[in-house]
Amino acid sequence: MLRIGYIKQLQKRWGRRAPKQMLRMMRLHRTPFQTILQNIFGALEDGDGRFAFPTIAAIARMRPDLVREIVNEGHEVASHGYNHVRYPTLSANDRERDFALSLQTYRKLGIEIKGFRAPYDNYTDDMPALLEKYKIVWDGGFGYRTEYREKTHFFNFNLNDRPSSVTYIPLNIWSDDLMIDVHGMSPEVISKTLKESITQASRTEGVIMFDLHPIRMGQPEFVGCLRDICVHANSLGAWCTTPSEAVNYWKAHKKWKGDSSFCLLLTGDIDNWVFSDYLRRVIWKRK
Ligand SMILES: [Zn+2]
Repeated sequence: MLRIGYIKQLQKRWGRRAPKQMLRMMRLHRTPFQTILQNIFGALEDGDGRFAFPTIAAIARMRPDLVREIVNEGHEVASHGYNHVRYPTLSANDRERDFALSLQTYRKLGIEIKGFRAPYDNYTDDMPALLEKYKIVWDGGFGYRTEYREKTHFFNFNLNDRPSSVTYIPLNIWSDDLMIDVHGMSPEVISKTLKESITQASRTEGVIMFDLHPIRMGQPEFVGCLRDICVHANSLGAWCTTPSEAVNYWKAHKKWKGDSSFCLLLTGDIDNWVFSDYLRRVIWKRK
């Protein structure tokens, strides 16, 4: 009975892809999230890179230990909303409530939040005003829109005839889900694809940001790609840091730190810790 409910709901939302995607996630979640994070921390240490994890706040509060570990390892945690919902489907009030609740949740956990990426990179046009109101420093999802994706530098929006204090970061099209789930790329091809984009970015002396979800990139077969791309970027003179560091430094100095000629920002959203979190989200829309 319950199972038929699952499938119907999933098919309504995703069509015939649903069972396949569910199986995929089930397999991925066989690797405990703690292991996924350890794999990523190790690869980044080898490659001398840092990482930002936009994390669903409702998930973060279930495992504050894991979120604190991210920060203690020198990486950044950002808000990915309180619930993993498409913001455009919410009313303006509910949108603000979800966003504010995410910030409040992190505040209670003692985690400082400077950045944001909306679930599914899905924004409404009025969201820059919302991010401004809550004094967010950087946004890492609005820049996925086709008109901003190809930008090579941070950008701002005009709000009331003034540039926003929130800094927007273009988000590259090569995400792990596109490379792995859609194109079926091997780890070698992923490294090659990302390295090519990084090489192009090095010539712009600007910034390049990827969304590489830990659930896929932290798996033993893929985590080496993170090390590879950091090593490659560093050999070209990159600064592989967190968005907060990069944005604050750029605002103060209008250049990258030290001798760095461009900036690589590795990010990856955390939507669930375990498969049951994922199921719960897909099956019951949490309010
Ligand atoms: Zn997400």
